[in-house]
Amino acid sequence: MSTFLELGLKEPINKALTDLGYEKPTVIQEKAIPQIISSTDDLKAFAQTGTGKTAAFSLPILELLDDNSGNVQAIILSPTRELAVQIGNNIKDFCKYLPNIKVTTVYGGSSMEDQIRSLKRGSQIVVGTPGRTVDLIKRRALKLGNVQWLVLDEADEMLNMGFKDELDKVLEATPETKQTLLFSATFPREVEAIARNYMTKPVEITSGEKNTGSENVSHEFYSVTERTRYPALKRIADLNPDIYAIIFCRTRRETQEVADNLIRDGYSADSLHGDLSQGQRDSVMGKFRKKTIKILVATDVAARGLDVTELTHVLNHKLPDQIENYTHRSGRTGRAGNKGISIALVNGKEKGKLRQIERIIKKKFIEGKVPSGKEIVQNQLMNLIDKVQNTEVNESEMEEFLPSIYEKLTSFDREELIKKFVSLEFNTMLKYYENSKDLNDLSSRDNSRARTVNENMTRFFINIGRKDSLNPGKLIGLINEQNIGDKVEIGSIDILDTFSFFEIDKNFEDKTLEAFSSNQPDFDGRSVNIEITKKERSGDGRRGRKKPFGKKDGGGFGRRRSSEGSSKKSSDFGRRRSSDRPDRSERSSGGERKSFSGFGRKRRES
Ligand code: AMP
Repeated sequence: MSTFLELGLKEPINKALTDLGYEKPTVIQEKAIPQIISSTDDLKAFAQTGTGKTAAFSLPILELLDDNSGNVQAIILSPTRELAVQIGNNIKDFCKYLPNIKVTTVYGGSSMEDQIRSLKRGSQIVVGTPGRTVDLIKRRALKLGNVQWLVLDEADEMLNMGFKDELDKVLEATPETKQTLLFSATFPREVEAIARNYMTKPVEITSGEKNTGSENVSHEFYSVTERTRYPALKRIADLNPDIYAIIFCRTRRETQEVADNLIRDGYSADSLHGDLSQGQRDSVMGKFRKKTIKILVATDVAARGLDVTELTHVLNHKLPDQIENYTHRSGRTGRAGNKGISIALVNGKEKGKLRQIERIIKKKFIEGKVPSGKEIVQNQLMNLIDKVQNTEVNESEMEEFLPSIYEKLTSFDREELIKKFVSLEFNTMLKYYENSKDLNDLSSRDNSRARTVNENMTRFFINIGRKDSLNPGKLIGLINEQNIGDKVEIGSIDILDTFSFFEIDKNFEDKTLEAFSSNQPDFDGRSVNIEITKKERSGDGRRGRKKPFGKKDGGGFGRRRSSEGSSKKSSDFGRRRSSDRPDRSERSSGGERKSFSGFGRKRRES
């Protein structure tokens, strides 16, 4: 693996990259940077999203351009405003120590005058959306006669969005001698046509296989019906207290509806789509990047290419019409070396699309299950307890209040106090999920994939999960390391956030317990323990669940009046066709729900 200096970049660029924490080039950078620096040949680069495409095309341009001239030497076209702004900002970061280089970003919906003023001051690099770029060319504010590099980023999306005429106009305005660099994660026919029509014998480079999804992303699908699609989405958010996700929808209307519903139900969510003004879009993106908003509901187009590094989930409320877009969606997570999950909510009819997508991403979707109310409550509770454990106590600040607090609580013993504090945080959620239904659409389960209950298997709970970087492969490795016996059959595995389940051949039930208890294994420094879970009375193929908090069913947190199974307040869904209406049981219980804290929900501030 080379260094950035060895790829031919100068020290000021290297220094800026060090400041950004880029230690070594990514695969696409290693291939593209020396190629662009050493040759004027056109370039067609197949690169998955999140692999460092922006630096791959912009660093060699920064290396080569003449910073004594104020002429526009590079024009970079990107399909959306957000992506253009992101690329412009990335390049500004890269030229932190190249003070003479100026970058202007031009896009619709923001002041044309400001952009013209910036261009007049002289910019060597212009990043723009096709429409605004053409407007500025027509007004003679943007002169591309000296352009040496034309970069087409996400060209397939530009064509999808109907920018073919604009591309033609930009190309007309640039000299024949320029070098065209085409970067894209997918290469449908239309993009191949661009390469044929606009490029001369391009050199092809690829980072990984064409059109495949990121290695760091696991793909899951949950079987739902139209009634349970939205409630399932909420359960995923509820199961994951630290969710930071993009929910993809097919249309602007669907996007707005899902966002409105989530906001109404007290989640920290907002929408991003083409019907919003540029000011609104900027504001939403700003809040999402700062994590003031934890869930962004977006159309494919609006979220194309967005780089938000720490996303925990990509959720596909509905699969995209154009299956290639799935790669773009799932590529929003698992970026910069992080792990990510892409979950698709699919009904019986949509399952065919999964197979088509699997062929593109060259990975199998794993069938997941919409979490049950108990799993959610257990996960949230464990999360709360973790937080309590890790909370620092500021003795000195508290000192003066403590005596009166002790006095008030003196009649409670330790157990009662714990129950009271936990209930304070949890009563609402317990109430909401009491009597909650199974939302998995068992009728449409894909039989070839469905895991049926196997009476020959014992189901175990294990106290590690996704947050511990556990995945099915690692769990199987961990089980095998315990030397339970030769050829022990391992059945289905469900990895959840902070804990998981696995099945083992019933004949090895005791040996499994013994092995784990005598070996006392740890996983990434966390001591591991397992327990047998209790089977539920269900004849519908569901497996048993571990009883939450070690309480007897129906006990512990007791019966509450209002629950997920008995929420009363009707919701905005009422406006939809009856077939679209969610299950009564999952409608919002209004103000009650808004008091959940953490986990992608916020308390309403206003
Ligand atoms: P991109 O594909 O250009 O959107 O980049 C994806 C993410 O990877 C961005 O957050 C970049 O800042 C980051 N990135 C790009 N190149 C590197 C590198 N060589 N080392 C570390 N992070 C990088």
